[in-house]
Amino acid sequence: MNKDASPLASDFRDAIPTADRKTGDRIWIYPRQPQGRFYRWRSWVAWILLAILAVGPFIKINGAPLLMMNIPARKFALFGQVFWPQDLYIFALLLLTIFVMIVLFTAVFGRVWCGWLCPQTIFMEMVFRKIEYGLEGDAHEQRALDAAPWTRAKWIKKGAKHAIFFGLSFLIGNWLLTYIIGIDAWWALVTDNPMRHLQGLAAMIGFSLLFYGIFARFREQACTFICPYGRFQSVLLDNDSIVVAYDHRRGEPQQRFRKDQPYEARKAAGIGDCINCRLCVEVCPTGIDIRNGTQMECVNCTACIDACDGVMDRLSFPRGLIRYASQRNISEGLRFRVTARMVIYSTILLLLSGVLVVILATRSNVETQLLRAPGALFTELPDNEIGNIYMVKIANKTMRDIPLALSIEWPDGAHIRTSEPEIRAARDGITQTAVVLAAPRMLFKHGNLPIAVGVYQDGQRIRTLKVNLIGPQTT
Ligand code: SF4
Ligand code: SF4
Repeated sequence: MNKDASPLASDFRDAIPTADRKTGDRIWIYPRQPQGRFYRWRSWVAWILLAILAVGPFIKINGAPLLMMNIPARKFALFGQVFWPQDLYIFALLLLTIFVMIVLFTAVFGRVWCGWLCPQTIFMEMVFRKIEYGLEGDAHEQRALDAAPWTRAKWIKKGAKHAIFFGLSFLIGNWLLTYIIGIDAWWALVTDNPMRHLQGLAAMIGFSLLFYGIFARFREQACTFICPYGRFQSVLLDNDSIVVAYDHRRGEPQQRFRKDQPYEARKAAGIGDCINCRLCVEVCPTGIDIRNGTQMECVNCTACIDACDGVMDRLSFPRGLIRYASQRNISEGLRFRVTARMVIYSTILLLLSGVLVVILATRSNVETQLLRAPGALFTELPDNEIGNIYMVKIANKTMRDIPLALSIEWPDGAHIRTSEPEIRAARDGITQTAVVLAAPRMLFKHGNLPIAVGVYQDGQRIRTLKVNLIGPQTT
């Protein structure tokens, strides 16, 4: 615990609580295990999210994964919609929409994402930390164990903890991989000869070591140093944002609790409700003192709310000395109000979401192109016809084969010469086939003939492709 963190420390912003002010060495945080309603609710949310994360790779919609971020192959899937590199603009728009949503949520609800939904917090506080409490005990026991000499019992405890941590990190690394390459490719990776999948194997080992390093050692530093979101906080929050906050008007001036001084007497003497028990500091996983005000390190995990509510309950003081509240609510007693910033962000969010919905609703899962065969000129065909060889290129973004048919829309007399009446567009890939577009010689004007080719799926025209046939120079 950082003993420097104190409500009296006016220079608390000059240093981070996890670094020694003189040497800069890491100060290891031993947070007490929180207890209380928020911790229970957060645990439930975490179990639900972990369950979704666990079953996510097995869920497929129309054969496509629920979520896939195949960065090496530049393929993404979201709710069964597959995005290819040519759809990158949709993905960029989606990311922009999510970004605005996070900005809006932060402006209104502070870092609710960090405390309740962020995978780092969920794994750290709800999985790894709970295992640590189970094996090594609460904060004071962990501190004592670390300070104790290396006995057999300590080796066993530490060994078991780190073995479990690495095993879990291996699991998480593998699960992340299923969201990157898909469950089928992952299954092939783990069941096939590993020498044939060196890249995948390297990713698996790399992720496992990375997660082990983060959850066993790096911990809260990931939120403080690596995550840019915490740093953005200072520009995203304002006095109307609801954050985990200490009610300094109610809490100050602090004074130790005296049994002979009931609440009313304390109030009458002008003493605040904070008894400076420091429990809110002791439970904080980032080592800060919320009584100093909103700080970048605060991940809004609510542990200090639970700790303080527990103290208030024991003393029969009203709960909520630390609570979800805006600065304006605390300083002026004003209730939540909609600000101009919230209205502007919401409008932008609505506009972006609207554009996204329209693009997704009108987007085709099949893209077709008609390209002249490289280097090919026209061919003289029987019956005084001229033929041009074209390549049909079909990108099928779905997870099922799709039969397509081509038909000339105009001009009359032009037709397609192909051995197969339909083209089978292979699932999740690009199909290419050659066709001969033919037309009577008399239709060509100055060696050109514009034609339109319809692409049909299940009898419905899904696209019209226009190309220019070349032919002999007739008038
Ligand atoms: S837990 Fe509550 S009473 Fe105790 S120090 Fe923190 S704010 Fe004050
Ligand atoms: S100050 Fe409170 S809400 Fe913020 S990180 Fe610490 S315990 Fe969590």
